[in-house]
Amino acid sequence: MSTIDFEELLDDCVAFTQRLIQTPSMPFAEAEIAAVVAAECRKLGFDEVWLDEIGNVNGRVRGTDPSLGAIVLNTHLDHVDPGEPTLWRVPPYSGQIVDGRLIGRGACDIKGPLAVQVYSMAALRRAGARPRRDVVFTGVVQEEIGGAGAEHWVKNLDYAVDLVVLGEPSDNQIALGHRGVIQMWLTFHGRSVHASVPDKAQNPNYALAGFLQRLQTAQGTWPSHPVLGPTTVAPTIIEVDTKSSNVTPAWTRVLLDFRTAVESINSLQTFVHQLAGDWPHDISDAWCAPPTPYPDSDAPIFGFYTPPDDEKAVRAQAILQAAVAHEVPFTRYQFATDGRHFVPYNLTMIGYAASEENQAHVVDESISIAKMAESLRGHVALLQAF
Ligand SMILES: [Zn+2]
Repeated sequence: MSTIDFEELLDDCVAFTQRLIQTPSMPFAEAEIAAVVAAECRKLGFDEVWLDEIGNVNGRVRGTDPSLGAIVLNTHLDHVDPGEPTLWRVPPYSGQIVDGRLIGRGACDIKGPLAVQVYSMAALRRAGARPRRDVVFTGVVQEEIGGAGAEHWVKNLDYAVDLVVLGEPSDNQIALGHRGVIQMWLTFHGRSVHASVPDKAQNPNYALAGFLQRLQTAQGTWPSHPVLGPTTVAPTIIEVDTKSSNVTPAWTRVLLDFRTAVESINSLQTFVHQLAGDWPHDISDAWCAPPTPYPDSDAPIFGFYTPPDDEKAVRAQAILQAAVAHEVPFTRYQFATDGRHFVPYNLTMIGYAASEENQAHVVDESISIAKMAESLRGHVALLQAF
C-alpha cells in the first residue's frame, strides 16, 4: 500500500462538496444529486454502487475480512430551504470559500460530511488498500421531512452491520445519541360569544395564557439524562376555532414539543393535565418519535443512545484519538437524526462529522475546511482499524 496523500484528498473532497452544494436537493427532488454521488463513487473505484427503490444511493468498498460486519457511513441527500437568498453573503447554491470555510445550503448539514465519508472510502482505494470490514456508504432521501429514506434502507438491510457512523454535525466529536420527540395538542374549551360582551364569555385564551406562564416556570424542573441532557418543552403552534375577529373563541389550542430522554408519553400527559388545572381541557394527537406502541406509553422516549462504556464506542474513540493526536470527547446531539429509525434494529450508532451543529439550517451555513481535513484522517483510520 502506498501512503495516502491527504492534501490531494482534501482538495478533491472540497471540490466534490462544492459540486454537491451546486446541485440543489430539496426533499422529493434528490434524484439529480443521487446521480452525482453515484457517478463519483464509480469514478473513485467503489466495488458496488446502486440506487434503491426509494432513491437512496449506496456504495460499497469490500473489506479484507468478510467474516466481520460492515461499517455503514450514513448521511442524507436532502436539505432545508435556503429562504431569502439575498440574506446570504454568497448565493446559497454557489459553494464559495470565504476565510477557510465553505459556504452554502447543505455545507454543514450534510454535504460536507457526505463528501468526507465518500472520500475516506476513496482514500484507501487510491492507496491500493482495502478497509478491514466492508464499508457501505448510504446517502438517504427525505431526512428533513421525517426519514422515509432511512426507514426504507433499514427495513431492507440484507447484510450484517457492526457500526453505523452518522454524518450529522458533531464538530469532530463522537455523538452518542439524542433525545426523542413527544408532541401533543392541548386544547382549552370555553363559551363563544360576541366580542362586545366579553363578560358573557368563557374565553379560553385566558386559560392558555396562564398555562403558558406556568409552563415557562416549569422548564428545567425535570430530571436530566446523564448523557443526553435535560427534558425541554417548546410551545409552537397556537390556533383558535374562530376566523372572525369579533367573536371570542370556543376553543384555543397549543402544540407542545417536548424533547426528552427520560420522560414517557404518559408522564408528560399527566404533567400537562396538572399544569392545565381545572379549566376544561383535553390532550389530543399525542405523537412521539421514535414511535411507541400503545402498551409502552410508560416507556421513556429517547432518539438513540449508545452508552459511553459501549465497547464499540470506546474502540472507535481510541482509533480516532490516535489518528488526530488529541482528545475526541463524547458528546450528544441537540436535534433529532435518522439514527432514531435504526434503534428497533439494534444497530450500534455513533455520530462523527466535521461540521458544527450551530451551522445547521442557518443563513450562511458553512463548514470549516480545516475540520474536514481532520475528519478525513479520522474516518480513514476508522475504516482501517475498526
Ligand atoms: Zn442533517
